[in-house]
Parts: sequence; C-alpha cells; structure tokens
Amino acid sequence: MKSDGRIFQLSTRDIPKKWININPDLPEPLSPFLNPADGTPVPLEAMQALFPESLLAQEVSMEREIEIPEDILETYSLYRPTPLVRARFLERALDTPAKIFFKNEGVSPTGSHKPNTAIPQVYYNHRAGIKKLTTETGAGQWGSALSFAGSRFGMDIRVFMVRVSYEQKPYRRVMMQTYGGNVVASPSEQTEVGRRLLQDETNRPGSLGMAISEAVELAGREEGTNYALGSVLNHVLLHQTVIGQEAKQVLDGLGLKPDVVIGCHGGGSNFGGMAIPFLYDKMAGRDIDFVASEPLACPTLSKGLYAYDYGDAGKYIPLAKMYTLGHDFVPPSVHAGGLRYHGASPIVSILKHSGLIRAEALRQMETFEAALLFARTEGIIPAPESAHAIASAIRAAKACRERDEEKVILFNLSGHGHFDMASYQAYFSGGLEDFEYPEEEVRRAEAQLPRVEMKVNA
Ligand SMILES: *Cc1c(COP(=O)(O)O)cnc(C)c1O
Repeated sequence: MKSDGRIFQLSTRDIPKKWININPDLPEPLSPFLNPADGTPVPLEAMQALFPESLLAQEVSMEREIEIPEDILETYSLYRPTPLVRARFLERALDTPAKIFFKNEGVSPTGSHKPNTAIPQVYYNHRAGIKKLTTETGAGQWGSALSFAGSRFGMDIRVFMVRVSYEQKPYRRVMMQTYGGNVVASPSEQTEVGRRLLQDETNRPGSLGMAISEAVELAGREEGTNYALGSVLNHVLLHQTVIGQEAKQVLDGLGLKPDVVIGCHGGGSNFGGMAIPFLYDKMAGRDIDFVASEPLACPTLSKGLYAYDYGDAGKYIPLAKMYTLGHDFVPPSVHAGGLRYHGASPIVSILKHSGLIRAEALRQMETFEAALLFARTEGIIPAPESAHAIASAIRAAKACRERDEEKVILFNLSGHGHFDMASYQAYFSGGLEDFEYPEEEVRRAEAQLPRVEMKVNA
C-alpha cells in the first residue's frame, strides 16, 4: 500500500477477488418476489426474459462469497482499487477529534461507483449471448456506467433517461453517446407505457419508476435484448461490495475499525456495498453506527412503509418487499437525481427493519453547504448525492467534537459532481428549495399498496 498519511492507495493485485454475499447472513430471510397480477411468488425462470441465468443465480445465492471472473477484474483494473482518503483538511476545518476517512469512487471512468456493477452485468449478459441491454437512468450516472461497460464488451445500450435530468444534464447524455449508448428522454413515445403516461401532463418530468417500465417493456418485446438495473437488486449490492472490502483492507492495515459507516441512499447499492463487509463485525457484537443518508424530499427509509410494492410505475416488474413511498410517488425535482426513487433495496430494507442500520433524512440546503465545505477543504467537488453522505459525516464529526470522542468515521464518496454544475449554480443563485415529504403522502401511499400480504402468508 502506498500512502502519504492522507491518501491510501492499494495496488492492482489488491483488487478483491470475491464479492461478499450477505443473503445467508441476513437477520430475516429475503421475501420472494411476487407476481403483480395475482400476488403469487414469481419463479426465477420467469425472470429469464429480462436477466441472464448467471445474474439470477447470484440474486438468490446462499454462497457467502462469489468469485470475480478474470475478465471483470481486468476491466476493474482500469480504475480499481480506488483511493481511501483521510480527510485531514475537513477534520481541521471542523476542529473534530474524529478521524474521517472517505472512499473515493469518483475516480472511476464515469465518475461514480456504478461501473462496479455495470461491468459484471454487461459481462454476464455478453456471456449469455445477449446483444442489447435496455435500462433507465436518473441523474445519468447509471446510463453512463452501462454505456462505458457496453463499450468494453461490444454490447448495444439503450438508456431511458428521466426527462428532468435529460434537460438539466445535457452533458451526461453526450457522455453516454461518447461511449456508444443510445439515449431517450422518458416518458417517451417509444413504448406503450410511455405513451400512456404522457397522456397525463404531471408525468412529463418523469421518474425512475416510469423509466424502468419503459426499459422493461422494450427488453420483454425484443429478441436478444435484456434489461439491466443499476441499484436495488441483490446482485447489484453484491457487486458493490468491492468498495467496502477495499476500505476494510486499508483500515485493517492501519489497525483501525470504523465506529460510523455512512453512505448516501437512493436504491441502496453504494451504501450496501460499503456497509456489507463491515456488518459482520456488528453482528458479532461490535458497536458500529451504520447511516444511510437520504433527501428529506424522498425519505424512503425514514418515512416509507415496509411492505410489498411495485418497483415501477407501469407495474411490469415483480413486487418486492421493501421500504416504499408508493410506486406512483413523483418526488420533487431535487438536485440529487440519483436519490429520487420511491423504493429501496430489499437487503437494505431488512437491515433497516432489523435495526442493524439507521437512516438520516437531510435537507437539500444542508447537503450543499456540506458539499461546499468539502470542496474547499478536500478539493473534490462531490456529486449532490454524495453530499448527503458528507453532510452525515459532518454531523457525526461535530457530535464527536461536542463529546470529545475520537471516533473513526468512514463514508463513501459515491461520485464527483463535475456534471452537476447546474445544481451548484442553482444553489449559488438562491434557486434551491428545501422540500419536506408531506405526512399525508404516507397515508396516500398506504392506500395504493398492492393487497398481497394474505397470499404470501397463506
Ligand atoms: C446512482 C447514484 C447514487 C444512488 O444510488 P445507490 O444505488 O443508492 O447507490 C448515489 N450517488 C451517486 C454518485 C450515484 O450515481
């Protein structure tokens, strides 16, 4: 390991050789996916219209570790291992006795953690003879990552991009095109569900749930075409465990263990990928505070209901048991586009429900203030999503200052914000608003939940 006491850089041979699968060690077993039509469990084979067998096997695997194929390791080596950084300048600015570390996933080719799963997803589809993948993207990070991975394995990529982001982030679109991806604003006229949604003007800004429906419809209809999801699913969290494993390797080398582990939460993949390798210590009795940071405008884990719900607005994909704000919830256009999803990963939902982790909902203004302090101390302009994790880390560091505690705080910097300058501009021009999720939305969401519990229990 190379280090100047601030940046800790592992070498290529230290890239983890296995992903860590938490499925067998979850405090409650995963609930089956259910058919949205009749509430009966969906057999895995039924999902082969969208995913290759290899990824479905990972989805339900009970092996504690899954070996990473050589071709994936080779592509990972374009940017992994990512640096672990001791945020000494931030610590100084906060005058905190805490040690703050962050994992910089912003150094990947597309600027976020998303290639960690885009690469294996394209690889396994390619191995299964699939020629084209459809997907959705919010802020454009996932679409860029999949387009990049597609270019490595000769896969056609079709991306349905949530319209607000398509308009706010034109350069993300160009980036996808640079990697060879094909981008469409969603809801679009290209699918049945898109045309139906567009009949109601309030759907025009789009949402991840709507874009998922479009991508799934197309994948189901076209021969040789599959679908890829950038978060939420078990195999996505599995792939992201390279983040936590590398962080753990460095901290172990320094003789340190984290007391607080933080990640921002959209669908749960970067938080899960950071948290999972450290969760075993907590299950063995060590006191660790795991914090999933989310926007107060879309507080899925903090205020959502734990129930079976649809994953998409069009009700195409199987029902999953998770925290949800309701499948037709259209979150306000907050600038952390990647955190605007109504649902959450079933794995993270179980961890939250069992009390192993907690969630923190943050106002947009607090996250941008944290982003500025981070940029002006550590020099990196964070993605607005990652700014949620920074804000939570700052809260934890301030608590350490008040109680004079020398804790180790670890957070994941899920991405840089170079394509988010419009959001920063809105902040500087006073155009940012704080949205709070209204309480009555919870009751509205509850009324919209599918009535399936009876059939599962029967
Ligand atoms: C997509 C994205 C997120 C949110 O997704 P998760 O699955 O919750 O990790 C967070 N940060 C960045 C930079 C992203 O691109």
